[in-house]
Amino acid sequence: MRLYRIKKSKIDKRGLYANLDIKKGTKIIEYKGKVISVKKSDNDPKFENENAIYLFNINKRYDLDGDYKFNTARLINHSCDPNCEVFGRGFKIWVFAMKNIKKGEELSYDYGFGFDEDYAKYPCKCGSKKCVGYIIREGSRWRIKKKKKLK
Ligand SMILES: [Zn+2]
Repeated sequence: MRLYRIKKSKIDKRGLYANLDIKKGTKIIEYKGKVISVKKSDNDPKFENENAIYLFNINKRYDLDGDYKFNTARLINHSCDPNCEVFGRGFKIWVFAMKNIKKGEELSYDYGFGFDEDYAKYPCKCGSKKCVGYIIREGSRWRIKKKKKLK
């Protein structure tokens, strides 16, 4: 049985929800995408700031572009009080439960946006008590890269 299902969400249009109780540390879903070079993501307008929502940094040379329909994990919403964490293993990126999750709870992780002049463009609607109102990182290792326009 799959650990998650897609449902309407209050945070965004859709989200992923726990289909059953999930124990802390469980690998829930792979964050799928295409591996591209950092050189490419640095220079491709597709990944300029606000478009880089699904871009993960793997290492110095490679990023993972998760902006594909087959990447179900892209539907997971950001929360200021998340129950999941994203880690890379080699060239694969996985979403893990960072706490025990009850059946029916929405899955979320820290999108890890940096705090900069653009933060106001990303209001957060997670509704948690810890919500800071904007999508700003708390310090996860596999943070989404924010791209600056290269001129
Ligand atoms: Zn929030």
